[in-house]
Amino acid sequence: MRIAVASGKGGTGKTTVSVNLSIFTGLKLYDFDVEEPNARIFIRGEERDKPVYRPVPEVGENCNLCGVCKDVCQYNAIVILKNSVVIFPEICHSCGACVYLCPEKAMKEVNRKIGRIVDVFNNGKNVLTYGEIDIGEVSPVPIIKAMKREMERDAVIDCPPGVSCPMVESVKAADFVILVAEPTPFSFHDLKIAADVVRSIGKPFGVVINKHGLPFDIESMCAKEGFRVIGRIPFSREFAEKYSKGMLLESLRQEFESIYDRLKEIV
Ligand code: SF4
Ligand code: SF4
Repeated sequence: MRIAVASGKGGTGKTTVSVNLSIFTGLKLYDFDVEEPNARIFIRGEERDKPVYRPVPEVGENCNLCGVCKDVCQYNAIVILKNSVVIFPEICHSCGACVYLCPEKAMKEVNRKIGRIVDVFNNGKNVLTYGEIDIGEVSPVPIIKAMKREMERDAVIDCPPGVSCPMVESVKAADFVILVAEPTPFSFHDLKIAADVVRSIGKPFGVVINKHGLPFDIESMCAKEGFRVIGRIPFSREFAEKYSKGMLLESLRQEFESIYDRLKEIV
C-alpha cells in the first residue's frame, strides 16, 4: 500500500507523521517535498544521488523569427526580439509544442538539469528516497514524476505542502491519503480545501490531528464535515523538542501502528 501524507498548509506536522509512520511500519519513505526535503534530518545514512533532467527547447540557425513558437507557448516562456528568439528555460514546462510546430524545424530539445534524486541507505537497505530541486527552478513536478517512476509498491509519501500541482501529483500515486491538521481555525480551513482536492481525485482519506488537546474543537468540525479522524498526536513540549532535534517519537509507536491498522481497514 502507498500512503500519502499531506496537509492543506505547511507546518502542521506532515513530516512528523510521515517519518514516524515509515519507521514504525517498516514502509520505505519517499520525500516528495523537493523544495524542502527535511525527512533526511530524521533518517540518515549513506547517500547515493543521481541527476534529474527535463527537455527544454533550443533555437538553431534556420530560424526566420516567424513567431509561431511564441504563439503556441502557453507559459510565455518565449519572446521574439528584433534579431533573435529568447527562451526562458526556468518557466518552460517542457510540453514540446514549440519544437513540434516550428515550421522551419529550427528548434531542438536539450536536457537541462533541474535537481537530483537521493537514495539513503541504512545497513545496506534503501530506507529513504528524497528529491531536491535546484535553486532557481520553478516546477518540482518533473522531479516528483521521476521519483514516481521508480517507486516501490509499498511506501509512505511525504507530500509537498498546500494543494497546488506538486501536492496533486504526489497524492495521485497513493492508495490512501492522510491529511494532517492542527486544532486551529486556520488549519481546519486549509484541511477542508485539501479534503476537497483529495475527494476530487477519488482517493480515500483520513485525518490525523497533530497537537491534539489545544482548545479548538476540531473533532466536532471534522465529524460535521464527514472526515474520519484516524489518529491523534498529543500537544506536548516533549514531542516539539524531539522534533527540533531530529528524533523519532518512540513513545507514540503504538499510536502510529494503530493509524496504519485503521487505514488498512478503510482501504
Ligand atoms: S517557430 Fe521556429 S522559425 Fe519561427 S520563430 Fe520560433 S524557432 Fe524561429
Ligand atoms: S516546450 Fe512548451 S512550455 Fe517550453 S517553451 Fe516550448 S511551448 Fe513553451
